[in-house]
Amino acid sequence: TMAHSKALLVLENFIAGKFVPCSSYIDSYNPSTGDVYCSVPDSGKEEVEAAVRAAKDAFPAWSSKSPLERSRIMNKLADLIEHDLEEFAQAESKDQGKTITFARTVDIPRAVHNLRFFASSILHHTTECTEMASMGCVHYTSREPVGVAGLISPWNLPLYLLTWKIAPAIACGNTVVAKPSEMTSVTAWMMCKLLEKAGMPHGVVNVVFGTGAKAGEALVCHPDVPLISFTGSTLTAQRIMEKSAPHCKKLSLELGGKNPAIVFDDADLSQCIPTTLRSSFANQGEICLCTSRIFVQRGIYSEFVKRFVAEAKKWKVGNPSDPTVNMGALISKEHLEKVRSYVKRAQAEGARILCGEGVDSLDLPAGNHKGYFMLPTIITEVRDESCCMQEEIFGPVTCVVAFDTEEEVVERANGVKYGLAATVWSSNVGRVHRVARRLQSGLVWTNCWLVRDLNLPFGGMKASGIGREGAKDSYEFFTEVKTITIKH
Ligand code: NAD
Repeated sequence: TMAHSKALLVLENFIAGKFVPCSSYIDSYNPSTGDVYCSVPDSGKEEVEAAVRAAKDAFPAWSSKSPLERSRIMNKLADLIEHDLEEFAQAESKDQGKTITFARTVDIPRAVHNLRFFASSILHHTTECTEMASMGCVHYTSREPVGVAGLISPWNLPLYLLTWKIAPAIACGNTVVAKPSEMTSVTAWMMCKLLEKAGMPHGVVNVVFGTGAKAGEALVCHPDVPLISFTGSTLTAQRIMEKSAPHCKKLSLELGGKNPAIVFDDADLSQCIPTTLRSSFANQGEICLCTSRIFVQRGIYSEFVKRFVAEAKKWKVGNPSDPTVNMGALISKEHLEKVRSYVKRAQAEGARILCGEGVDSLDLPAGNHKGYFMLPTIITEVRDESCCMQEEIFGPVTCVVAFDTEEEVVERANGVKYGLAATVWSSNVGRVHRVARRLQSGLVWTNCWLVRDLNLPFGGMKASGIGREGAKDSYEFFTEVKTITIKH
């Protein structure tokens, strides 16, 4: 047992409707100051076992409730989070390093929306029925919740991505054991404090905090957890596939990206430039959907680069709680070093850094000197084979390169192991459809970015994932389907 200093926020696991302390804890840092401010339970097999047991016990009653009853509780929870929106946004910003503006306008509103969206969509699904008159048979499908769902989420959009899993899982009648990232656990813990008031029966939502290696793996290996929904890196997903293979678990894997933006010479740059700045640097570039390879057609290349760099230089980096700041701190010291090392490697390979890291100076407020900050960084004259053009950096670093033809750019855009999201900028409708069809990418945005209709599938191709999430897709993942035949 570790002694906690009075100043520290100490989180506890949430199992069977109760907060329970853990025998050991991990330090969690405030990325904008570099100070430890929170203790996160370092859970392992024992804690996971207790949580799975609670979820199993709660399953029969929860799965037999009507969708409308479950929906009411989820809507109540959404209302309670929305009521405390500011408190949640402050916590997310402090824990993750993201700007308070982003947390207020994206993370927490979307978490609320996830709950309401699945609370509503669960009321509208239909199953299938076919008739086989010659045999005197009708066939129909029925869908049932699977059981205890294991949910594992990353640190970049903590409550947003956790609720994107919890909401469809419990709407379908499953009970869950969730394991948020050990680096961003606070808002999940805050949500647990509201479950009782929302009327959530004990054991439906259990949250176990801790590392991936201990708590995450114990969940993945637990024989009574038949499905795992994971969002995180491709490397971790490979480990999860390996560990769950002996149990033949159902897996949904939302992984990394190396997302291209393709800017044709007929693009409206007045829209393309501000949106591409956001798509490259929003949330410090720590969004799986962020653009990191910008292909610009030769005729407008110089103009694009000039305007893009000029606008990037205007981005204000600093204290995340300052509402005028565009970019906050990166998640950790180690991650900042990793992102910086990519810029150094690009430089060593002969690429040019047009602005940001190593080129411009970063002026930080007095309290933030030990925080994990870096400037928006734009790299050019970089080869497609370079690690900066092939690997997911997951920080505020984007590459800009020129191309000549449509044929060429499609091939180059597809020339990475990932296939999550792409953006296409052009005013030629025919070209847009043609290129969108040919891109190996689960999502293609044309003349916009990050506009989502939760009804439609979300997910990646190739190393970016397996499976899709969305109204129908999540319903299908979180239920087992059965085909029933009746002869009359
Ligand atoms: P990560 O893979 O390191 O960790 C994700 C989660 O998995 C964490 O909760 C972690 O504790 C847990 N984990 C780690 N090792 C584990 C193991 N062996 N068994 C079980 N669980 C384990 O990813 P991260 O660094 O937290 O997040 C960044 C990554 O997530 C990026 O690659 C990003 O692209 C990806 N991401 C993808 C999407 C998407 O929807 N496709 C969305 C957001 C982030």
